Amino acid sequence: MILGALEAGGTKMVMAVGNNEGRIIEKKTIPTETPSIIMPKIIDFFKGMGVDALGIGSFGPIDLDRSSETYGYITTTPKVSWTNYDLAGTLKRALNIPVGFDTDVNAAALGEAIWGCLKGLSTGIYITIGTGIGVGIYVNGGLLHGMLHPEGGHILLNRHPMDSFEGVCPYHRNCFEGLASGPSIEKRWNKKPYELKERPEVWELEAYYIAQGLVNFILTLSPQRIVLGGGVMNQEQLFPLIRKQVAELLNGYIKTPQIDDLDNYIVPTALQGDQGILGCFELARLEKHF
Ligand code: ADP
Ligand code: ZN
Repeated sequence: MILGALEAGGTKMVMAVGNNEGRIIEKKTIPTETPSIIMPKIIDFFKGMGVDALGIGSFGPIDLDRSSETYGYITTTPKVSWTNYDLAGTLKRALNIPVGFDTDVNAAALGEAIWGCLKGLSTGIYITIGTGIGVGIYVNGGLLHGMLHPEGGHILLNRHPMDSFEGVCPYHRNCFEGLASGPSIEKRWNKKPYELKERPEVWELEAYYIAQGLVNFILTLSPQRIVLGGGVMNQEQLFPLIRKQVAELLNGYIKTPQIDDLDNYIVPTALQGDQGILGCFELARLEKHF
């Protein structure tokens, strides 16, 4: 089976064609301009490739309710040209194939579950810490949607007593994304995050917020493993700092083999940035059999 994947992000669109063993045959990236400019390019890429089904992992918020009239739409995004845009439907009509649809981070969690660090587990989460923060939740063998879809980047955190930075989220003063996304690091310290590598206080504070986020997910979702991705996590020194602060915050309350071995519990992605694309292949395959 030939599968198509579209990772629809706020800054770039990644398109790929592959097979159901998760092998990527062809991949192309284009900047996210308005739908009228880029949708014809996306359709062109997939047309003529003999794609049997397409999976989309999209930025949001999106409508995942199959009984809704706006199923498959990007809904209330501040990117105006994409507000109330029928992303899945437009591609389904143009390509005439089954189209699976989910959030970008749920797709990445699914990629990890089938081919990556969550393989063999029934419940795990994937968190991206990049331009935004998003949480994909794979629970009891499927992706969590619920009422809308999880918006784990906006959970509220305790502000560090020494941190006077107001945060970058226009909705919340102290949410995860507002305090710990790449843009928040840049605005707080007045430098690009990658230029701050030699400033330990930057990463101590970053780990303070990420660890709080993780602890909240550990306590509510009981993931068997947590995978961290996104541009900010290129700062590998964060991993030991996060693990240490997670242990401190849990304070011995949760006693499991996983929590006893945090090096193998809180891990970087092993899929080299292709976790979203691979998850889209699986969304496509699942839709074909839906
Ligand atoms: P996006 O979230 O837009 O899909 P990324 O996951 O690459 O893209 O995240 C981009 C964010 O990550 C930016 O805020 C950028 O400053 C930050 N970033 C990218 N590379 C690094 C790095 N090496 N170290 C720290 N932060 C980085
Ligand atoms: Zn927020």
